[in-house]
Amino acid sequence: MIIVMNPTATQENLMRVEKKITDAGLTFHLSTGSSRTIVGVIGDKTTIAGLQMNAFDGVEKTVRITEKYKLVSREFHPNDTIVDVDGVKVGGKNMAIMAGPCAVESMEQLLESAKCVKAIGAQFLRGGAFKPRTSPYDFQGLAEQGLKMLREVGDKTNLKVVTEILDVNAIDMISQYADVLQIGARNMQNFELLKTVGRSKMPVLLKRGISATISEWLNAAEYIMSEGNYRVIFCERGIRTYETFTRNTLDLSAVAAIKELSHLPIIVDPSHGTGRWKMVRPMARAAIAAGADGLMIEVHPHPEIALSDGDQSLTPENFKIVMDEVKQIANVMGKE
Ligand code: PEP
Ligand code: MN
Repeated sequence: MIIVMNPTATQENLMRVEKKITDAGLTFHLSTGSSRTIVGVIGDKTTIAGLQMNAFDGVEKTVRITEKYKLVSREFHPNDTIVDVDGVKVGGKNMAIMAGPCAVESMEQLLESAKCVKAIGAQFLRGGAFKPRTSPYDFQGLAEQGLKMLREVGDKTNLKVVTEILDVNAIDMISQYADVLQIGARNMQNFELLKTVGRSKMPVLLKRGISATISEWLNAAEYIMSEGNYRVIFCERGIRTYETFTRNTLDLSAVAAIKELSHLPIIVDPSHGTGRWKMVRPMARAAIAAGADGLMIEVHPHPEIALSDGDQSLTPENFKIVMDEVKQIANVMGKE
C-alpha cells in the first residue's frame, strides 16, 4: 500500500504513521518528493488491509498497489529518481556513459581503455574481473587482481568503477574496489544475490535477464529496494529471441516501458544487445532517442586480440564517432 501524505502534514503526523506501520510489524519506506511525501507500506497483505490509515491526521489518501513490485513503481515515487554515485548522477539531465573493456586483461589494456573513454566523455569505467562465460574453458577474469587494477585506474583517470558481482560471498571484497555493483543478465533472478546487494550501501546496475519479462525485471529490482537499497539502475542488454544474426535482440521498447512503470533510471548496452560492433553506433543513437539515461559500451584498444567479446567491442576511434553522434541526440533529448 501507498500512503500519500497531505502537503500540509507535519513531521509529527508522519511519525505517528510510521509508528503505526512499524508496530504492526510492517516495513515503512519513505519517498520525499518536491511537493508530496509518499509512504510505502510493505508486508503481510492482511495486516495492511486492517491498518485504516485514512483515519490518521495528515493522510490524504491510501492507494493499493496491485502490482507485486511497489517501491520500484512510479506510483510510489512519481518523479524520476536520480542515482547519485559519489557525485556522478545517473538519471535526470545527465547522460551516463559507462565504457571500457568486457574483461580486465592487464594493467596496460585497462589504463589505455580508461584514458581513451575518459577523454571521449565517459564518467564510468566498466570491466569484468569475474566473467560469467558460457564455456568453462574461456577466460574467467583476473578476480581480485583485476579489481585492484580497476580501482587504481579508476582513481588515476577519475572514473567511477562498475564491475560485476557473481557470488554473494564476494560482496565485501568487491565493494572495497568498486563504485557500482553490476548484476549481470545471468544473475537477474539470483534472489540471494539480489538480497545481498540490497543490504549493501552500493549503487546497483541491474541488467535485464536473458529471457526476462519487464515484470520479472521490475520484481528483481524490488528485491534490491525492499532490503533498503534505493540506488538501482536498470540496464537493457538485449533478450533471447529466434533471431540469430544478432547475439541478442535489443529491446528498446523496454526503455519506454520502464519509464512508464518505474521511477528508476535506465541505461542501454548496445554491445551485448547486438554482439556486433558495427551495430553499436546506430543502436546507441536509438537508445538515447528512446529516452535512455545513458549507455554501457564495450571499448577495447585492440578488439582483435580481446580475451572476450572482441566482436562487439569498439576501438577508441569508433567510440569517439559514436559519442559525437550520441551527444547531439542527447542535447535534443534535454540531456547534457
Ligand atoms: C557484461 O556486461 O560484462 C556482461 C557479462 O553482460 P551481460 O550480463 O549483459 O551478458
Ligand atoms: Mn562482454
